[in-house]
Amino acid sequence: MNTPAPLAMELMAELSGQAKPKLLIVDDQPINIQVLYQAFAADHQVFMATSGEQALALCASKQPDLVLLDVVMPGMDGYEVCQRLRADPATCDIPVIFVTAHNDEASEERGLDAGAVDFISKPISPKIVRARVKTHLTLKAQSDLLRSWVYIDGLTGVHNRRYFDEQLGTEWGRAVRNNKALSVILLDVDFFKRYNDRYGHQAGDDCLHRVASTIKASLKRPGDQVARYGGEEFVCLLPDTDLAGAMQVAQQIDQNIFEQTIEHTDSSVAPCVTVSLGVAGRSVDGAGSAETLLSLADAQLYQAKGQGRHQACGAELAP
Ligand code: GH3
Ligand code: MG
Ligand code: MG
Repeated sequence: MNTPAPLAMELMAELSGQAKPKLLIVDDQPINIQVLYQAFAADHQVFMATSGEQALALCASKQPDLVLLDVVMPGMDGYEVCQRLRADPATCDIPVIFVTAHNDEASEERGLDAGAVDFISKPISPKIVRARVKTHLTLKAQSDLLRSWVYIDGLTGVHNRRYFDEQLGTEWGRAVRNNKALSVILLDVDFFKRYNDRYGHQAGDDCLHRVASTIKASLKRPGDQVARYGGEEFVCLLPDTDLAGAMQVAQQIDQNIFEQTIEHTDSSVAPCVTVSLGVAGRSVDGAGSAETLLSLADAQLYQAKGQGRHQACGAELAP
């Protein structure tokens, strides 16, 4: 069985290692912005907007962790800004706190109906605003963490197949639009059933964790991604990389995993754990689809197994 606790710790550490929380302050009166800015500038990254339109643009481009939003502004008012943020999938998870001089019950109700998480009256008390912002930032960090887990493989900590499938679709579309190459590497651990039989399931799990980490460390470009495809299979997505480049990466992964020298006395290939890799590349003007790219990688993996394992086979999608 895998233990979720260490993984949770890893992810929490990743989250807490992030830069200062990003805060957007929206108010048409610069003096009000000034007061809030002073309350947060020391330990937050603060963005400022003086109109609803500007606020929406900043939310899209900066993805703040929280918005402090004035209600009464010329042009688009705070209620409308909040509704628009909620309606857009790219901004719907950003919490909004209304900061307003309208502190009657009806205004507060309207603000909460528009999707705000909290409502603060002017004139503000910096201490109270800071405390409430802290609470909502913590909640936001926790929900971001939970959301990210939907895409994380619990055993190895790398992305899961659901994430990969989405990314493959996105990257395929991007490659076609921009006439870029795109490659996929499918990787399978050799004689892994025998490994489990010989060393036990827990050791098998540990081995998969090490294989995943080694693949991850072998990928050098920021856009490169690895996911657990299922069982003892992993998949890498290499944007803007042609077949020749992907073959080099595949051979490097093969070598790096071999050099981990994870004992596997029952393997027929080597005394340690090895992998086989199938590589498929889309050239800059390649035809086909994300699905054909993946099935070509699968066919190449099958060939690598047939040719003796512990090697990479590759092919380019027909133009
Ligand atoms: P080949 O070299 O042809 O790939 O042989 P293989 O034994 O690796 O392939 P096979 O598909 O026969 O066996 C895969 C094994 O991987 C069987 C299964 O128990 C094991 N496995 C799959 N997922 C996990 C896992 O999460 N943990 C552990 N410990 N083992 C797993
Ligand atoms: Mg397999
Ligand atoms: Mg296998």
